Amino acid sequence: MTILVIGSGGREHAIVWSLARSPRVTEIVCAPGNPGIATCTCTNGTSARCVPVNLTHLTAMVALAQAEAPALTVIGPELPLSLGLVDELQSLGLRVFGPTRAAAQLETSKSFAKQFMRRHGIPTAAYAVCFSLDDVRQELPRFSAPVVVKADGLAAGKGVVICQTHLEAEQAAAEIFSGALLGSTESTLVLEEFLTGEELSFFALCDGQHAVFLAAAQDHKRVNDGDTGPNTGGMGAYTADGLVSPAMQQWLLDNIAQPVVDRMRREDTPFHGILFCGIMMVPQPDGTLQPKVLEFNTRFGDPETQAILIRLESDIVDLFESAIEGTVDELKIHMRPGASVCVIAASQGYPGKYPTGLPISGLDSISDADVVVFHSGTAAEDEEIVTAGGRVLGVTAVSTTLQPALAKTYTALQTISFEDMHYRRDIGWRALRDGL
Ligand code: AMP
Repeated sequence: MTILVIGSGGREHAIVWSLARSPRVTEIVCAPGNPGIATCTCTNGTSARCVPVNLTHLTAMVALAQAEAPALTVIGPELPLSLGLVDELQSLGLRVFGPTRAAAQLETSKSFAKQFMRRHGIPTAAYAVCFSLDDVRQELPRFSAPVVVKADGLAAGKGVVICQTHLEAEQAAAEIFSGALLGSTESTLVLEEFLTGEELSFFALCDGQHAVFLAAAQDHKRVNDGDTGPNTGGMGAYTADGLVSPAMQQWLLDNIAQPVVDRMRREDTPFHGILFCGIMMVPQPDGTLQPKVLEFNTRFGDPETQAILIRLESDIVDLFESAIEGTVDELKIHMRPGASVCVIAASQGYPGKYPTGLPISGLDSISDADVVVFHSGTAAEDEEIVTAGGRVLGVTAVSTTLQPALAKTYTALQTISFEDMHYRRDIGWRALRDGL
């Protein structure tokens, strides 16, 4: 099979790396891809081919898919989903993994997701949808501080503001409506009750009818150790057996993922693809944990995907096909037992301004078969790999437990360098505390 993968980051590198291991895959085209992706080789010896495409250009992506005529297209990032790339490719008779534009609203509109959850009794924080500052002023008294203000649409991780006072919330709302926060105006926002607890990312594979458990992970959004500094796209993630108990895993499936799939189908927007549930485990007075949904993503997360796919032993093509065909309930997903970790090597200054074009050394120095260096923001220049983004590399390792996986990752990181490379040294601290 020829497979087309849309995207260019660490997540797409992990997807291509995983596809390349499948004996069913004879050719991989990645648009636009990156130099790490270009090094992936199928089992028949064919290297992945990267072709340029603008991820904001729906017609360009459709034309590319038509020209390549792949047996399957896999869409990595949220933007092409929000543009309706799945709908377009389906209407051309192409097989594609991912949700339609309508189903992707679970991610692309916070108000859609909140109203959907309220309609169907899916546990989430109390909220109000506001269309003006007057609405915000009217609704705020219902919320005790701190209060969370969220831009409705896709915001690349910048649309959520945690406000300590109502005044701060009004200011954040004003910035969201005016465009000062995101660079473009928003007509809708969500006010939300502030929840405390530990966060968990829960990934379900969905086929329009069934949701099955794929993996649980924890990510680290803040740029510096000790969860300090500004929020980023993610500085690291890990998975570990025992991160969620089998009982909690079943509860999350029965009370969140499966109801989402059932209700989306009933509302004529069947959900196919990865449902990423961002969960807050809220401690209750009786000592139990009440999981509540913070957000949905309708695709693989980055960098969780790198940590998840390094453990995937099943053929990833079977996962994608079953999600399209409605047979995920028949699938047996095999993961390598143990734990995995992905630590992001970032450019100095990220998530603010950062330099690019810095040569990266040591990429060929890693000989441990349990370590993979996924490229997030790199470019090839004069036969050299250089930095080309805020998040540059995702150094990823798998082992029997988290401690050796971390040791392998941090050992590898010591052999890789570029000027002012920055990475967190405390990825997985919660799990280590809990003895995973
Ligand atoms: P979201 O994009 O909605 O997941 O929000 C991004 C991050 O903001 C989450 O991962 C949480 O750390 C934080 N956050 C979002 N909503 C809430 C909430 N209701 N209470 C506390 N923290 C939140």
